[in-house]
Amino acid sequence: MMGRPQKYTQEEFEKIIIRKGGILLSQWFGTKSKIKIKCIKCNYEWWALGSSIIAGSWCRNCHLNEIRIGIDKIRAEIIKRNGVLLSKKYTNSMIH
Ligand SMILES: [Zn+2]
Repeated sequence: MMGRPQKYTQEEFEKIIIRKGGILLSQWFGTKSKIKIKCIKCNYEWWALGSSIIAGSWCRNCHLNEIRIGIDKIRAEIIKRNGVLLSKKYTNSMIH
């Protein structure tokens, strides 16, 4: 959906940021300029292109956290299922 470029005012863009869960920390000069954003969820601050935010790009830190949580969940699931197997392995490695 790369239609014709839409014009946003500072106020409109701030609303987009707020809806995503952040704060606009810099002046808005248009989709082609970089803006500073703060993520309320994790307090991460970063510079991004206005256009990339509109395209759906968001906090890198939260994204990484989600991946981490995802990996932890998978790991927890594996441990739950193979708990016996894993503890056996640990015992073996302690013997060696
Ligand atoms: Zn974040």
